[in-house]
Amino acid sequence: MSSNLGKYRNNFLREVAANVEEGGWVKMCMQCGVCSGSCPLGPHWEHPPQEIFMMIRANQREEVLTSSSMWFCTSCYNCIARCPRELPITHIMHGLAHYAKRLGIAPKDQRTAKFAQLFWDNLFTKGRVNELKLGLRLYFMDGFVAGIKTALKMQKVGLGMWKTQRMDPLEILGGHGCKDLKGLQAALNKARQIEEQKAAKFQG
Ligand code: SF4
Ligand code: SF4
Repeated sequence: MSSNLGKYRNNFLREVAANVEEGGWVKMCMQCGVCSGSCPLGPHWEHPPQEIFMMIRANQREEVLTSSSMWFCTSCYNCIARCPRELPITHIMHGLAHYAKRLGIAPKDQRTAKFAQLFWDNLFTKGRVNELKLGLRLYFMDGFVAGIKTALKMQKVGLGMWKTQRMDPLEILGGHGCKDLKGLQAALNKARQIEEQKAAKFQG
């Protein structure tokens, strides 16, 4: 297992509070289980939200950060609407997934993580999402043959989008960018640098 897992075992709750979006809320969880019971995907997760929060408090760093559970959150907000302690559960789930990815210990075969990376790379290139390129990248994520099969299966949808001007085939040539692309990229790089410095402090 990655060396990133070996360090900082004794205070995972504090690490989560410092590095994970809205992570400071985890300590407020009273383990009532309403979130897990409300989550439409809860029964299919290895660890539903209430269990993830319990594991964080029990210092189960490796089990939490290598879990695929957080990656299944669909942002339906059922849990947030019902939590008696008003924890921002959805944001914490995504924050945990993001933190695990930053540390390089997210499950490697996680398709949501792959999609997130494709989306980010696409957005970073021009400052706007090029939907045509993103769609094609997704189709061909599992190789050329699988990509052709998916493209053929989705051809009616693609044609419909083109006819209703929801997709421009010329986007393949590059598409529109935002006005100050260099400025945006510099800001995003700076934000990433700050996050990495924060995480490194807790790793050392
Ligand atoms: S509903 Fe809120 S308080 Fe209850 S277990 Fe879930 S996060 Fe904790
Ligand atoms: S927002 Fe995520 S964690 Fe909350 S109920 Fe929906 S799928 Fe489950």
